[in-house]
Amino acid sequence: MKITRLETFGTADLAFARVTTETGAQGWGQVSSYLADITVEVFHRQIAPHALGTDATDFADTLALIQEREHKFPGSYLRRAMAGLDTALWDLNGKLQGKPVVELLGGTPGKLRAYASSMKRDITPVDEAARFVRLRDEQGFTAFKWRVGRECGRDLDEWPGRTEEVIPTVAKALGDGIDKLVDANSCYSPTRAIKVGQMLEDHGIGHFEEPCPYWDYDATAEVRDALALDVTGGEQDCEYSSWQLMLDRGAVDIVQPDVMYMGGIHRTLHVARMAARVGLPVTPHAANLGLVTICTMHLLKALPNAGKYLEFSIEGADYYPWQQGLFRNDPYRIEDGHATISAEPGWGVEINPDWLDRATYRASSAE
Ligand SMILES: [Mg+2]
Repeated sequence: MKITRLETFGTADLAFARVTTETGAQGWGQVSSYLADITVEVFHRQIAPHALGTDATDFADTLALIQEREHKFPGSYLRRAMAGLDTALWDLNGKLQGKPVVELLGGTPGKLRAYASSMKRDITPVDEAARFVRLRDEQGFTAFKWRVGRECGRDLDEWPGRTEEVIPTVAKALGDGIDKLVDANSCYSPTRAIKVGQMLEDHGIGHFEEPCPYWDYDATAEVRDALALDVTGGEQDCEYSSWQLMLDRGAVDIVQPDVMYMGGIHRTLHVARMAARVGLPVTPHAANLGLVTICTMHLLKALPNAGKYLEFSIEGADYYPWQQGLFRNDPYRIEDGHATISAEPGWGVEINPDWLDRATYRASSAE
């Protein structure tokens, strides 16, 4: 069943991709968010020309061939664009078989434990603790992640003393029986990361994400060696070679590929298998409520080496204005701290037609 048409509907922040086959069958996916207008350009110029005319039902090798045809362009943008093709084809195949993607991947739909993930650093420790307690009590979350240090901060804090305050304030407010995670987003030197890590351990935090610049696997490994808690990372890494290096260096206890940054489900599965070979779990990165978290839900519930929970962004319109109104059904309901994977075919979401009407449209078709 040949691919005859590839379309995008987007804004500068996010773009959906639609694949159509010679039979008229369709599937919906998404290219990676952020600078999605640039990614759409890559999609139509470097992905679509190779994908049109290829088989929509057996496409793992098509993705590999695109990489080979575009071998002068390693790295992020090609992957971000490839994610649109991969995720649209998974949806299409789910719809063709009448199954949710999670079933195509060997799992079952239903409930999935989520952790509430804060994206904010400009929030005071007291306010962060208060909204976490509210989410714990109202939505039943049993795990939370908050931010320490400054993003790529060269050992600086968002403001002096914030990290020393936010660690105990949030940990104490949440209390026992709640899993506690923090993310440093590449802030620290190993020396500083180890000091912060000891503070984290003293307050029962079990997950220390991206303590050092993420590309410095030796620095991250030094922190992992010095601490008992889980050192985690990998959200930006999109090349198999960098993943291999990270695993060979023993840099992390948990790997965190992002389905969209990686280039879709097939390539993320490859990384999950690499992690499984060295006995590591996968807790994917999924930092907004575009399609990425839906795709991650289907993947995570099917992975034999899945981590303990789904990353679930708690940010709304003030932080992510561009993720509002994307879906017609409500795929992101949380009950008792769990998200629910739909049993509907494909991704089980309906993209809001009003949003699509307002989006910038572009199409690539077979000759
Ligand atoms: Mg992170």
